[in-house]
Formats: sequence, structure tokens, C-alpha cells
Amino acid sequence: MSNKEKFYEGKAKILYATENPEVLLTYYKDEATAFNAQKRGSIAGKGEINCKISSYLFNLLEKKGIPTHFIDCPSAKEMRVKKVKILPLEVVVRNIAAGSLCKQTGLAEGTVLKKPLVEFYYKNDELGDPLLTSDRILIMELATPEQIEQLRTLALRINDILSEFFLNCGITLVDFKLEFGIDSAGNLLLADEISPDTCRLWDNSEKDPNRRVMDKDRFRRDLGNVEEAYRRVLERVSFNL
Ligand code: UDP
Repeated sequence: MSNKEKFYEGKAKILYATENPEVLLTYYKDEATAFNAQKRGSIAGKGEINCKISSYLFNLLEKKGIPTHFIDCPSAKEMRVKKVKILPLEVVVRNIAAGSLCKQTGLAEGTVLKKPLVEFYYKNDELGDPLLTSDRILIMELATPEQIEQLRTLALRINDILSEFFLNCGITLVDFKLEFGIDSAGNLLLADEISPDTCRLWDNSEKDPNRRVMDKDRFRRDLGNVEEAYRRVLERVSFNL
């Protein structure tokens, strides 16, 4: 990796420039962070597992008509992606109450929401990624009214596709975070990754609230067997493609 020009390094991935100015190479790291990087660690095999799961899910979404930045995977931990300007928004979709929704509303974990909830958070570590409203997004000029509607529509469509797919894998898609970017032609593309780092995934064959967790909550909450859980997600995803 050392001779490549580093374009950006995030908590879970490194982006490298390529000979093509329209294409970046994403390297998926084993490092894991949580709680705005206050908790740090490493999950053996995570880079490879998340790269594979993300590539499978991007492929699935592309087939269903969702435009994504995904191109291909030249190696196990590397993904070639279309270069985009990432919108500074984290788009979260929730089907079941968990995490910050429970903390901020008092809803009990596991409450099934009457309809999927789409939320926008400001991608800003210094401010701790605060929850935004549409009006705040407009005042801050983070997106246009049309883009907000487009993001909401895409997020709900992606939720339909992924929820159905994971259900076939025996997994409940509780919630997940998406990031979007604009390519050089002005198209809005799904970007970043979709993996157990960015989704809450509950094993439908387990009733116990700790045993059912197949995602980064195992790391956040020190539940153990993190790599094993991520591997089980990968196995089920590849089996059901
Ligand atoms: N999420 C993420 N990156 C973030 C914040 C959240 O991938 O910076 C994902 C998280 O894994 C979960 C969903 O978005 O699947 C909703 O997260 P929540 O707002 O509950 O935040 P948490 O309290 O888990 O940080």
C-alpha cells in the first residue's frame, strides 16, 4: 500500500488516489472505533469481511436500480469506487428502536416502529455528529430541498431492499447509516460502506438480547465474539445472494 498516494484516512478505511482521477481505491482496515473514537480496538479479519459484505450489498442495490459508487474489488480488503464529494450528512434509517433513538426518546430497545424512520445527522466529529432537522440542513446549506427529498426516497428504497434481503438471511435489519456523494457529472450516488460496522443486525434464531447481536454493538458493549458474528453475517449474505 505504501507507494500509493493517500487521499483521505478515516476511522475504518483509507482512500487512495489512482491513475484515474475519477476513481479512488478504498482500503478496509481492521481497526474499530466507537463513541466518536473514544473507544478504539481492532477486530481480526474485519477489513476483509466488511469489504466483501459491502461489495455484495452494493452489487445487490445496483441490480435493483440504486446508483452507488462501487466499481469492483481488486483484492480482499480493497474496493475501487467512483470519486464523489461526500455530503456531510449521515442518513440513518430505523425499523426498530435501538441506540441513540432509545437514549433520546425513552423508547424501549426492540420497539418495532410503525413506519421506518429516516434521520439526518451532521457528519462532524468535533460537534459529536448531532441530529439535524430539515430546516437546519437548509440553514447550514448542507443540502438543497430537492436533495433532502431525494435522500429520503433513496434511503427508504434501500431499506426495503436490504430489509427483505436480510430477512431471507434470517437477520433483522434494525437500523443502519448511509452516506451519499455527488460525482463529477452531478449524480447523487450511495457511497461509503454497508457492513456490520454501520448496521444493527439481529439474528432471528436467537431471542437473547445479547446473543442475537451480529454487529458493532458487540464491540461497543464488549459482548465478545465480534469477529465470529461478522463472519456469520458474511456467510449468510454470500449464501443468499
Ligand atoms: N452509525 C454509524 N456511524 C455513526 C453513527 C451511527 O454507522 O457514526 C450506525 C449505527 O451502527 C447504527 C445506526 O447508524 O446502525 C444508528 O446509530 P445510533 O444513532 O443509534 O448511534 P449509536 O448510539 O449506535 O452510536
